[in-house]
Amino acid sequence: MPQIVIEPRIRGFISLTAHPEGCAANVREQVAIARTGITPNPDAPIRSVLVLGSSTGYGLASAIVACFGYGAKTLGVCFEKAPEGDKVGTAGWYNLAEAHRLAKESGLTFRTINGDAFSPEVKAETVRALRDGIGPVDLVIYSLAAPRRKDAQGNIWNSTLKPIGGRYDGKGFDLRNEAVTESSIEAATDDEIAGTIKVMGGEDWREWTTLLRDEGVLAPGARNVAYSYIGPEVSSAIYRRGTIGRAKEDLERTAHELHTLLADGRGGGSWVSVNKGLVTQASSAIPAVPLYLSILYKVMKAQGSHEGTIEQMVRLFRDQISPGRTPHVDAEGRIRLDDWEMAAPVQTVVEELWEATTTENLANTTDYAGFKSDFYRLFGFGVDGVDYSVPVEIDRPLV
Ligand code: NAD
Repeated sequence: MPQIVIEPRIRGFISLTAHPEGCAANVREQVAIARTGITPNPDAPIRSVLVLGSSTGYGLASAIVACFGYGAKTLGVCFEKAPEGDKVGTAGWYNLAEAHRLAKESGLTFRTINGDAFSPEVKAETVRALRDGIGPVDLVIYSLAAPRRKDAQGNIWNSTLKPIGGRYDGKGFDLRNEAVTESSIEAATDDEIAGTIKVMGGEDWREWTTLLRDEGVLAPGARNVAYSYIGPEVSSAIYRRGTIGRAKEDLERTAHELHTLLADGRGGGSWVSVNKGLVTQASSAIPAVPLYLSILYKVMKAQGSHEGTIEQMVRLFRDQISPGRTPHVDAEGRIRLDDWEMAAPVQTVVEELWEATTTENLANTTDYAGFKSDFYRLFGFGVDGVDYSVPVEIDRPLV
């Protein structure tokens, strides 16, 4: 059983290492918030939930709310690396090791299929697991964030984060040197736009939804929710008006189509939830977003409206998508959990600080310290109560 001292090894926007104890502590904290934030209604239970992209970020928080908040049988699908010999596993693996352990301890069901969710094999395995006692599901959460996809025909598509129609010249942030930079990103080609839509648009969600419906593993009144982002004007050239924004528009269009497919007069349907911008492995990779989030955290913490992934997911389940609730939607039919982020009193200050921020005043005009701390925590580092000088067992199974 390998016991080693683990330190962060940051490369750009990821850490090559993860700390099992720190990840476990993060999960315990989220479980406690889910338990206090949710009071399940015995007359309208959530019995069974499938989460696609369940190991980190919004998907992990969704799975935790489902399992520990509602006591739902929860099946997650993710793409993580298990520890091997003296090589540490990924943060998502360790998050799930702790979620599985806690579920078992509490007599709850939390299971994981670790593999490529885009593949027909993993889809088939998921259907088998749902038939085998976990399903039929009341709720499907689609929370994949992936750099590439091999589609059912074997074609490989890559997702890019680029502007469309012209070069981006504007503020950026160099995580390595902790410096505000002037960055330039060339406009995407048509192939890059198409690839991003293939990876992050609605096609795979549609494949999942039609398969689950055709295989009869959706419960009557089943709800189906995918996550999107809009974000502010300052990131729009790269995000909403860029390649990823095109993919999100496609995802949002797909929600309308899938809504019709699942609407059964018993509360069933499909929605997109537009969530708040937060530090996750996916979002840290988006140019300009670390700077925007550092400013956003500063403003929302000062105004008392800051939430993390788990608070967002408690709000989504409790107020919008649990049985008996009618989702409140905007003119395009989207649930808006980014309402507090996009509120004028927040965005007005964000815009001022965006203009004013330089490398020299970063510590004052932004909450870069908060961003950095959340970033390290994604990999289990910098968590209170964890002694990082002590060797830890890295071989943690998904029990
Ligand atoms: P994340 O990187 O934390 O999580 C991605 C999940 O997808 C992980 O569980 C990972 O294992 C899984 N995954 C990736 N490739 C996979 C594959 N091939 N097969 C199976 N699983 C795979 O990302 P996140 O930020 O939580 O993003 C989740 C969704 O939420 C995305 O649609 C994202 O656009 C959306 N969103 C994110 C933010 C944000 O600021 N982070 C805001 C709003 C919406």
